Amino acid sequence: MTEGTTGGSCPVLPSRGRVRPLAQASITDGFWAARQAVNGTATLAHCESWMERLGWLANFDRVADGTTSPDRPGWPFSDSEVYKLLEALAWERGRTGDPEAEVAIKRLTARVARAQDPDGYLGTCFGHGEQRPRYSDLEGGHELYNIGHLLQAAVARLRTAGEDDLVRVARRAADHVCRTFGADGLPKICGHPEIEVGLAEFGRALGEERYVEQARLFLERRGHGTLRDIPLGRAYFQDDVPIREAEVWRGHAVRALYLTAAAVDVAVERGDDELLRAVERQWERSVARRTYITGGMGSRHQDEGFGEDWELPPDRAYCETCAGVASIMVSWRLYLATADVRYTDLIERTLYNIIATSPSPDGRAFFYANPLHQRVPGKPTDGTEVSPRAEGGTRAAWFDVSCCPTNVARTLASLGGYLATADDDGLQIHQYAPCAISVELPDGRRMAVDVETGYPETGTIHVRIAADEPLPWTLALRVPAWAVGARLISDGRAQPVDPGMVEVRRAFRAGEVITLELPMAPRFTRPDPRVDAIRGCVAVERGPEVLCVESRDLPDPGGLDALTIDPLFAPRAEPGGVRIRGRLPAYADRPWPYPTATTPVENAEWFDVPLRPYHSWAHRGPSSMRIWLPASPPPEGEQRA
Ligand SMILES: [Zn+2]
Repeated sequence: MTEGTTGGSCPVLPSRGRVRPLAQASITDGFWAARQAVNGTATLAHCESWMERLGWLANFDRVADGTTSPDRPGWPFSDSEVYKLLEALAWERGRTGDPEAEVAIKRLTARVARAQDPDGYLGTCFGHGEQRPRYSDLEGGHELYNIGHLLQAAVARLRTAGEDDLVRVARRAADHVCRTFGADGLPKICGHPEIEVGLAEFGRALGEERYVEQARLFLERRGHGTLRDIPLGRAYFQDDVPIREAEVWRGHAVRALYLTAAAVDVAVERGDDELLRAVERQWERSVARRTYITGGMGSRHQDEGFGEDWELPPDRAYCETCAGVASIMVSWRLYLATADVRYTDLIERTLYNIIATSPSPDGRAFFYANPLHQRVPGKPTDGTEVSPRAEGGTRAAWFDVSCCPTNVARTLASLGGYLATADDDGLQIHQYAPCAISVELPDGRRMAVDVETGYPETGTIHVRIAADEPLPWTLALRVPAWAVGARLISDGRAQPVDPGMVEVRRAFRAGEVITLELPMAPRFTRPDPRVDAIRGCVAVERGPEVLCVESRDLPDPGGLDALTIDPLFAPRAEPGGVRIRGRLPAYADRPWPYPTATTPVENAEWFDVPLRPYHSWAHRGPSSMRIWLPASPPPEGEQRA
């Protein structure tokens, strides 16, 4: 059950905003409960075992024992994976009370704590023995980035268990950062933003204003060319333009989004409406012009970065899983500040089509990049090798750069914190999963509901009132932007409702049920023609899920890229899944593929093309796949059936 007044286990807890987050609602069943269970029982141990095997944990022992050497295993940012795992474990222990998670937290914290220098510095790559000096490579060293993740782990621990050794280690590290980089210290920033969002939340969690102030200092310093120029340009680490002057997200997507999350935190804590509006404008343009239908962000592999406006190639999409996590971090903070439903709409899209896509059903393999079109099936992996690459078409057990698995883990473990919010008059439910929510308003009114639903398999959401409250309060439910034709059934009456927030206000009695019916018929989606890479294509969506075609479901698996869809034949839901009509023309090879005359679509047989949720692609083994499908209606008079 959720206690809305205590703050409790929220990843983000601003001191003000249009709505307040609730401590995590307990997700009791369904789509997300299954994924949370796999995360808790498989993924967390999987991540720890890989970090042990690769020596990323032993790096802390070497610092403690004075046995460091220049050939330290792992990238400079491998410490952050340990901290993200600690954060995930802390949320998981708070969520389930799992004693094994508690033991793991203590085990990892002890090793981390031993590596902390007397002045609070904590890092295994710089400053010890023959290693390079501290902060001698701010562009690529990730020292402050790592500490930012340590602070987020400490926030999770503080809010779920209270002050302990992990929090004390984090406090010493944060104090070291403030002393070193404060107003009178080094006027520098870290190449990878993260320290900012870590400091801001750590400051909120402890009620220590100076940590928020340090976050603000880092934020304001950025954008003035403080970092060395690199071949990718300073936009890569958002040091090209001050954040309050920027028009759009650019450069490395995860960096841009972590920085933006911190900007919302600082704007809210300081009442800096100019900064908040700047970030909202960046969100608007970036979502309207630089975001994939999956919610994925980042169109370029070269710099893991955003492309130009409308540059959204489906096959070369990067869409790093971590960018999905970071996009949710930004949108959630913006929702709490503004109560604008567009932010929670994007969170839903990203949850179902990026976060749910990354992990395998057993929670021991992950997608790093999430392209919308895989041209060749990936190679099967046996789960024992480190993938050297972020791409490949199959989920990998672990990566050389393995930021995504722990990012998914901490998001799933804290997902209950993103379902609902409260304001002074009621409760708002944003994401639909079977759950129990109970909140007391500041004036003593008690709101308690149980949500029952098979969403997203079905579109019916029952909200059952779980406690009498003699005074009226307002129950608000999100109607997603795609849910045109939704209905609300309340007090025995059904009424059509538009996308946005639909509200019911009265004195509720225990046992009453308010039902939201969302239309779940599959639908064609068409791109803005300015997204030139997919002009003339259609996609199919059903509820919050983007669907895809996998080559293994075609009569000729090698022909996926020739598949042509009949756009006049609406997608239909059948017992085995969603079907559309398509055909696989076979074209003759020729020595030069650019004739002057148009090549007619060959008169091939039409057949039913099965579609599956994108998040489940490659679950049945390697496959090629595509979301956007070229559409071409049959010529007049041609037999289609
Ligand atoms: Zn990642």
